[in-house]
Amino acid sequence: MSYLFEPPALLSVPVEGAAAFPVGRIFCIGQNYAEHVREMGGADTRAEPVLFMKPPSAITTGPDVPYPPATADLHHEVELVAAIGPDGVVASGVGIDLTRRDLQAAAKTRGGPWEIGKAFDNGAVLGALKPGPAPSAGAIQLSVNGTVRQDGRLEDMTRNLPALLALIGKYFTLAPGDLVFTGTPSGVGPLLPGDAVDAGIDGLPPLSFRMTDRKA
Ligand code: MN
Repeated sequence: MSYLFEPPALLSVPVEGAAAFPVGRIFCIGQNYAEHVREMGGADTRAEPVLFMKPPSAITTGPDVPYPPATADLHHEVELVAAIGPDGVVASGVGIDLTRRDLQAAAKTRGGPWEIGKAFDNGAVLGALKPGPAPSAGAIQLSVNGTVRQDGRLEDMTRNLPALLALIGKYFTLAPGDLVFTGTPSGVGPLLPGDAVDAGIDGLPPLSFRMTDRKA
């Protein structure tokens, strides 16, 4: 096969003690922890979670994460991420669903799609994956400059991972290479240029990165 131009390399993320995971689509679940729904001003915590996507171009593994343009209110959302292989979940890791909250809020007001608030370049930070089934219980935490901002429990998900995969499966056919961000606990808040972020989920490789300065 010849191409009009050199195709970009397939994006992949490291897996502890195994070969790299090739990234396909990125499914994201919103509003899957009741406390976070409430902090965002919502009430109906039993509603079907929001389902949205980010492109593979959103994935970054750090350690330096470019501060995105066009926002004055970038937020962190720490999330359990499940990685899909040929026979279901093959690995999992710690991810950050970076969100341009001001642009997302404007999109919500207009009743429009969330892409400019969610799907931007380097807007999905992902730590190393651990092979095997994803954890279903344990602490999920995020600190900024050493101060704990998010401190939740995986078992507080409104819908657990199998339920989320079934929900996605109603609308899409999950395929090897897909990643699933499973929603964030409460405590989301702003990130500034230069902030150091440390995130962790019990039993999974920790994720640390630093936000770079804004581009001039
Ligand atoms: Mn999220």
